[in-house]
Amino acid sequence: MISQDVIVVGGGPAGMMAAVMAARNGRAVLLLEKNEKLGKKLYITGKGRCNFTNACDTQSLLEAVVTNRRFLYGAFYGFDSDAVRAFFTELKMPSKGERGGRVFPVSDHASDVIRALANELSRLKVKVSLHTRVKTLLLSETGERVIGVRTAGGETFTAENVILALGGNSYPSTGSDGETARLLKELPLSLMTPEPSLVPFTVKETGELPLLQGLSLRNIGFRVLVNGKLRYEDFGELLFTHFGLSGPVVLSASCHLREADYAKDVEVLIDLKPALTEDKLDQRILRDFSENRNRQFKSALGALMPKSLIPVILSRLQSDPKKQVNAVTKEERRQLVRLLKEFSFTVTGNRGFEEAIITRGGVDVKEVDPSTMAVKRLGGLYLCGEMLDTDAVTGGYNLQIAWATGALAGRNV
Ligand SMILES: Cc1cc2nc3c(=O)[nH]c(=O)nc-3n(C[C@H](O)[C@H](O)[C@H](O)COP(=O)(O)OP(=O)(O)OC[C@H]3O[C@@H](n4cnc5c(N)ncnc54)[C@H](O)[C@@H]3O)c2cc1C
Repeated sequence: MISQDVIVVGGGPAGMMAAVMAARNGRAVLLLEKNEKLGKKLYITGKGRCNFTNACDTQSLLEAVVTNRRFLYGAFYGFDSDAVRAFFTELKMPSKGERGGRVFPVSDHASDVIRALANELSRLKVKVSLHTRVKTLLLSETGERVIGVRTAGGETFTAENVILALGGNSYPSTGSDGETARLLKELPLSLMTPEPSLVPFTVKETGELPLLQGLSLRNIGFRVLVNGKLRYEDFGELLFTHFGLSGPVVLSASCHLREADYAKDVEVLIDLKPALTEDKLDQRILRDFSENRNRQFKSALGALMPKSLIPVILSRLQSDPKKQVNAVTKEERRQLVRLLKEFSFTVTGNRGFEEAIITRGGVDVKEVDPSTMAVKRLGGLYLCGEMLDTDAVTGGYNLQIAWATGALAGRNV
């Protein structure tokens, strides 16, 4: 049996940050990670560039949180995005801000974020044990306190405090494969059912997807209706894929749908011309048509929309693509305007944990003291990162949650 001051389980961003902060406070720390390396998921964040926080004020950071915003108040004010950037700059990893306040390493390499943390762990003499999966938490005789962990290999480690940073269920290949529920099932902690979030949509109109696949639409208006009622509205970029819809507006919209919603009637309405009212758009189409009077209908639409959209729009209009522009009826033009303002898709589901950027759900935040990250009903146990029931939209906010809650747990053990 090996004894430490602090055991951190999980070598993702939250766990590494917690281990650094605990070690900076003079604690002897052991970090256990089941993968062959630290930060496996961190490595693929931001398409390998790692959008590791957002350069907005703390109030705006909090507003980007979708679930349990108030719980993060203390964590974010204690370690805001300026503090996160300063932390990494001190570790010789300078950062830069981009569109929408997204912050990346100057090098554009997520691996530099991992390297900075790994070097700091090593400088602080944190013991790191890879290929080490924690299977059970050890409890005191009275069952009131966590006193250590047992690994899948049968080793036992004891400690004054244990910090869990196990992650969620999304992208299971990175190690986030629902370990939280397995490890905590013996403990008196309530869990909110994990659900995929920031996840692409599948749609009913599969016949159109081969034509649209790969098309990226910028500056579109985007609405999601559930059973006919507006659930989410946004403006931005959308991507058609071989299975349906992805891209920033779709991922953000998914944060506002619960898993049960996908069984309802979910409709997406894309406004391809959000800057134009229906009247203005009609005038614009009339102008285009008068300039192309003797051409085919399909050829007159090139200025209005990307080429790959034209056959889909014409098929939905049930119009002959070869008909002359001067034969297009007023009713057809009216329908074209409607279609451009409300290009609709029926959502049939989402792509699940395999493709979800984050997991919604996890340990109920009521179980955790927001000022320390300590579990209220069990001594010696702290939780941080994505395993908690809190999540945010895209833009660096989810890693901000990992850093801030990890730092808070590490500082308080
Ligand atoms: C493709 C993708 C891109 C993303 N891009 C961004 C982005 O650009 N910006 C952003 O803010 N967020 C992004 N995210 C979200 C972000 O990666 C997560 O919010 C963040 O990694 C959560 O950190 P964590 O430390 O809580 O969990 P994780 O990163 O999941 O780490 C948990 C670790 O614990 C280990 N572990 C679990 N159970 C055990 C056990 N029993 N024993 C030992 N070890 C265990 C796991 O192997 C894992 O290494 C992205 C996510 C994905 C999937």
